[in-house]
Amino acid sequence: MNPYASVTQLRSGLDNGDFSAEELAHCYLDRIDAAKDLNCFITVDAEGVLDAAKRADKAIANKRIGPLTGIPIAHKDLFCTRGLLTSCASRMLNNFVAPYDATVVDRLKRAGAITIGKTNMDEFAMGSSNETSFYGPVKNPWDRECVPGGSSGGSAAAVAAGLAAACTGSDTGGSIRQPASFCGVTGLKPTYGRVSRYGMIAFASSLDQGGPLARSASDAGTLLNAMEGYDPNDSTSAIADATDISSSSRALKIGIPTQYWSDLSPSLTKVLEEARRTLESLGHQAVSLELPHTNAATAVYYVIAGAEASTNLSRYDGIRYGHRAAAPENLEDLYQFSRSEGFGSEVKRRILTGTYALSVGYYDAYYLKAQQIRRLIRQDFLDAFGEADVILTPVSPSTAFKREALIEDPISMYQQDIYTTPASLAGLPALSLPCGVSDEMPVGMQFIGPHFGESSLLTLGREYQDETDWHALHPADNHD
Ligand code: GLN
Repeated sequence: MNPYASVTQLRSGLDNGDFSAEELAHCYLDRIDAAKDLNCFITVDAEGVLDAAKRADKAIANKRIGPLTGIPIAHKDLFCTRGLLTSCASRMLNNFVAPYDATVVDRLKRAGAITIGKTNMDEFAMGSSNETSFYGPVKNPWDRECVPGGSSGGSAAAVAAGLAAACTGSDTGGSIRQPASFCGVTGLKPTYGRVSRYGMIAFASSLDQGGPLARSASDAGTLLNAMEGYDPNDSTSAIADATDISSSSRALKIGIPTQYWSDLSPSLTKVLEEARRTLESLGHQAVSLELPHTNAATAVYYVIAGAEASTNLSRYDGIRYGHRAAAPENLEDLYQFSRSEGFGSEVKRRILTGTYALSVGYYDAYYLKAQQIRRLIRQDFLDAFGEADVILTPVSPSTAFKREALIEDPISMYQQDIYTTPASLAGLPALSLPCGVSDEMPVGMQFIGPHFGESSLLTLGREYQDETDWHALHPADNHD
């Protein structure tokens, strides 16, 4: 059995009886066990996945087959899963077993997917390296000295290492796209509102969006189809046409924001240029354009995301659920000690800076100003989509960096997000897909589309992946 097979290949293998769902689940469980040092998982649900696999085998025998029946996937540990720990990689939720499934989890189950476990991540999804997890860092399977990216680092590394067929992730300012790029997998941040946030632990509610990490654009589309759609439990979820994952290709104008390429290292420029030429050889036309306000995106993002995080995280008070300090003397101490002990230092930094940006006297200078610039950034994109159908950019200024290289330097860590935060602030869909290697580490590129333009992003991704093999590369198993 090939653990690196695509969802499409696994579907036909299961339907043709080449292997059973139970055998497939065992294959991934054995690999997870052998790759424990990567630390991709916070929870592995061996019993649950094997039970579900047996049921899937019966369903397949009875020809009651959904698009994902019998396919093992893992969820980022911020999606609530009934009966399983949902920790958000925080000591604060180290004992939290959700009483219900997130809409994303529920919909994927209905499509037949089976849950193999919950993946490691940066604490409360705050980070770009997966080093802020209470459960320890995740290692990059391409080079165990390097980070897998973050915050959906466990999901990206699990797909890259062949430990699950695909995973869910969440993206507030790049957390699906950047780890996808660092681990050589395909990740999609959908349009804000495309996927329900119900049951997804909130970080910054005007930016958070769930999405898939998978082996190809085609697999990402299959997962998106199962996840997407209006949900009455999330008032910001949109009523929109489903993504058409079998749409045929057409010649597109691909916008190249010139300022994004000028700061890039020569080796990454070379890879991105090659990808651009491949896209042109497929009949698409590259056009230069400007996104003048997006150079402020990362600063704006860290003000807005911090402000929203500071209010969202005020619910963790040690009283209703989550970590509670032992033997406080009074109510004040209970709040103070529970929060001091429960949150890690990056989360505390966000709460402090976010509270500051919202406080009287600073609100106008920081939060309001950031909202005004956010509006200008959105307008830049709306103008750009008058000239181009899709925008092509890097995902990250570098390939995966070494662990501990940036963790003591928050500003440098935040600057990792320069290419991903613009689409987040504008609420646009963006696809990250492998397009080459530099010093033996994967490099990703990003396609940004207009609101609800996922179909053309995925079609372009599929076309590119039909032409190239970068998405099919995988790290060597170092436990064989
Ligand atoms: N790296 C960004 C941050 O730390 C993005 C995180 C995310 O998208 N969840 O906030």
